Amino acid sequence: MKLLVAVKRVIDYNVKIRVKADKTGVETANVKMSMNPFDEIAVEEAIRLKEAGAAKEIVAVSMGPQGCQETIRTALAMGADRGIHVLTDIALEPLAVAKLLKAIIAKEQPGLVILGKQAIDDDCNQTGQMLAALMNWPQATFASKLKLTAETAEVTREVDGGLETIAIKLPAVVTTDLRLNEPRYASLPNIMKAKKKTIDQTTPEALDVNVQPRLTTLQVTEPVKRQGGKKLGSVEELVDKLMHEAQVI
Ligand code: AMP
Repeated sequence: MKLLVAVKRVIDYNVKIRVKADKTGVETANVKMSMNPFDEIAVEEAIRLKEAGAAKEIVAVSMGPQGCQETIRTALAMGADRGIHVLTDIALEPLAVAKLLKAIIAKEQPGLVILGKQAIDDDCNQTGQMLAALMNWPQATFASKLKLTAETAEVTREVDGGLETIAIKLPAVVTTDLRLNEPRYASLPNIMKAKKKTIDQTTPEALDVNVQPRLTTLQVTEPVKRQGGKKLGSVEELVDKLMHEAQVI
């Protein structure tokens, strides 16, 4: 079985995000970019499935500017077999990504597509669901455990108050949750080997997908600054402040 894994290039989760002065978005110039953490988990899961003999080939797909090649290389260094880069400088919305993935699925015919449950830059949590709808395939979102047979995927999902285990028919879409696995670091020999692996490049036009944005961002602002805390000397002082300053009692 072939596995398709979607890997998005996002601002590294350690970077302190700065909003642009004109409030149209966030600063990305000279900012460290990395693979979306949930997508690292998706790549790791695909590699484990291959190592366990449940899959034969892993194809990592990324969509966006030229820098996405680096993100695909990271997936290849972790253990993916080859990459596909859909080159575009247009900011892609989840529906556009889902449509591009659908076009790639038509060519690649994977048995399973694994995505992150959400990208940490737009926090949309939409692409996997939209892709399943466009394909008319079953979906299992927020996977914390995944078992494959030739025809089904058994997926444990984190739901409110516990775990739910469902079985879905393949081909299907699975999105990863945080506790599915701990992604490996790419070793130096594997980073070197990854340089020789193929990355095919295509474009939305070549895939015949219109990716023009449909949403308008009105404004991006920083979170309200938190006020500093203060240590009080006694319970009486606390009660007094709660009554007269905060007026909560
Ligand atoms: P979102 O719906 O934007 O929160 O993204 C959910 C998942 O869709 C991500 O974790 C990725 O697996 C995939 N995805 C979204 N955008 C892209 C992109 N530009 N390139 C590759 N994968 C993407």
